[in-house]
This record gives sequence, structure tokens and C-alpha cells, in this order.
Amino acid sequence: MIVIMRTNATPEQISTVCTRIEDEGLGTSVSQGVNKAVIGLIGKRPPGMMERVEVLPGVEMVIPVDKPYKFAARGSGGGDTHIRVGNVTIGSNEIAVIGGPCSVESEAQITATAEAVKAAGGHILRGGAFKPRTSPYSFQGMGGEGLELLRTAANATGLPLITEVMEPGRVPLVAEYVDILQIGTRNMHNFPLLQAVGNTDKPVLLKRGMAATIEDLLMSAEYIMAAGNMRVILCERGIRTFETATRNTLDLSAIPILKEQSHLPVIIDPSHATGMWELVKPMSLAAVAAGADGVMIEVHPNPELALSDGPQSVTPDRFFDIMAAIRKVAAAVGREVPAATAEMEAAAT
Ligand code: PEP
Ligand code: MN
Repeated sequence: MIVIMRTNATPEQISTVCTRIEDEGLGTSVSQGVNKAVIGLIGKRPPGMMERVEVLPGVEMVIPVDKPYKFAARGSGGGDTHIRVGNVTIGSNEIAVIGGPCSVESEAQITATAEAVKAAGGHILRGGAFKPRTSPYSFQGMGGEGLELLRTAANATGLPLITEVMEPGRVPLVAEYVDILQIGTRNMHNFPLLQAVGNTDKPVLLKRGMAATIEDLLMSAEYIMAAGNMRVILCERGIRTFETATRNTLDLSAIPILKEQSHLPVIIDPSHATGMWELVKPMSLAAVAAGADGVMIEVHPNPELALSDGPQSVTPDRFFDIMAAIRKVAAAVGREVPAATAEMEAAAT
């Protein structure tokens, strides 16, 4: 923590600030510039100290130099976090591709989509059973029945499964069915939910709130990690801006920033970020080029009939084409795209 004193701060005010800090058992170091004095704090800052110093006479501002998140910060525990799910290690040199419909709608729909995702080389099946819809009149998802259908399709293809959980009370149930728990953008600040998934042993894909800063996202990851679950995957899914040409604005610069600030894997969701299937391919490629550890893409056998997010869903053919292009960009930036499953890998060698 650094304390910047006002231009007209008196020597008494400077020494009061130092005494207050020293009274809490910490050291101080004063640098007197031509106009201003700057006081550096030496030692571990106790909770609330910034606020206690900020109100003292003569103080202009107090700047923290350490990060408010500890477990999520790069350098907090070795190198990059690697999360092994199915045949892909998320956060390693491998690119993970998650594909599937916005919502599970029927057995035929999820089975066909799961097979198409696997055939194209996708590593993880997605699908919403409990849906966080903006309107209470929109399709709300198939609930528990949807979980059953998702698990059956995942087992049939051998793909691991990710789905969203919206309520702390449902975490134990959803965790029984899935390989990765998803926290949606609208729940990034639902702290009881973050703590509940932090108490499970399942990896958690945490989506950035649509009006959340990068630091907010890392603080939410910290909630999950502080509860004991270190396997957190960060997901940038577009943020709200003044732009109306796309559903959200994909913050691609979040990728290198998150990678620099944190050791956690970063996944991009180009479907919710843009809201347009035409933009899913270019944004997927841009994400891989910018250093993302993977992408999550909405795939539907008949997007025009989808009960949710049809306009941003790609058909199986388009998903196949996107996978082929991802392999090329991944190779160009020195990353690998493993086979969808271990069996497919064995068959190819
Ligand atoms: C989803 O991925 O199913 C979803 C609802 O996305 P978001 O939370 O990013 O809106
Ligand atoms: Mn969706």
C-alpha cells in the first residue's frame, strides 16, 4: 500500500499517518518529493487499513500494490493450472473445444448434437438444463430431465459434460451429473453459489459477468478457490457496451490480461459474445490466436427451430468447418488440438 499525501500536507499530518500505520505493527518509508510526500507501507496490510488511512487529514489517495485476490493470482502456486477432462488438458498447450446446444430440448436433439460435436473433434459436450432466461416467459429448460438426457448423450459419445447450475441448493444434484459445473454470466456475483461450487470436487467454468471488470471476475474465482476448489476455468463471453451490432462485445484483450494476472485457464464463448453464428468462426480463430485455452460454441442440428439462441448456434457442418480452421490457427501459434476421445486418438495412430 502506498499513501500519497496532498501538496499542502503538513509534516504533522505526514507523521500522524506514519504513526497510525506503525501502531498496527507495520513499518513505513517516507519519500519527500518537491511537491508531495509519498509514504510506503512495509509489511502485510491488515484488513480495512486502506480505509482507515484514507480518511486521515492530508491524505490524497491510498493505492494498493498487492492484488486483492491471492489464490487466483499468477505466482500464487507454481505455473499454469491444468485441468484434465476427458481427452483434453485445459490450460496446457492443448486447445479445448466445448460444443453443444444452448438448451437440451429432446433426446433426439441432444443425441444428434453430441454425435456431431464428437465427429468434428469437439472435446466436451455442453447443454443447458436449468436456463437463466432474461424473460420468465421464455423456455426455461428441461430441468432434471434435461440432466438425464445430457448424461446419457455424454456417456454414449464418451465426451465429458458441462452444464450450468443456477442455485446453491441444486449444486449437489447437478454435480452428480456433470464433469464441469458452469456458472453463468448472471450469477458471477452470486457469492453463495460460488461458495457452493467451491465446496465440490468438480472443475468450475466461471463466466464473466456482462458488466464485470477483469478484477471482478478474478475476485469471483477467488471465492470458489477460497472455499477449497482450485480447478476454476475463466470464461470471457462478451460484455455490455454501447455497441448494438452484436449481442455483446467480445473482449479479446481479456485473454492476455487474464493470462498475465492469473494462472487459471481462459476459455472464450464466441456464441454469446456475438449473438450471430456468422461471427462464431472468426472470433473462435481470433481467440485461439490471442492465446485462449479453448472455445465454447453453441451447436444445434436445426438452429432455426432452436428453443433458445438459434441465431447464434452453428449447424454441425459449420461446427466441423470451424474445428478444421481452429486446428490450423492452433498449429500456427504452437498449440495442439487433441482428438475428441482417447479411442479416437488410438484409432488415428
Ligand atoms: C450459456 O452458456 O448457456 C449461457 C446462458 O451463457 P451466459 O451465462 O454467458 O449468458
Ligand atoms: Mn445460449
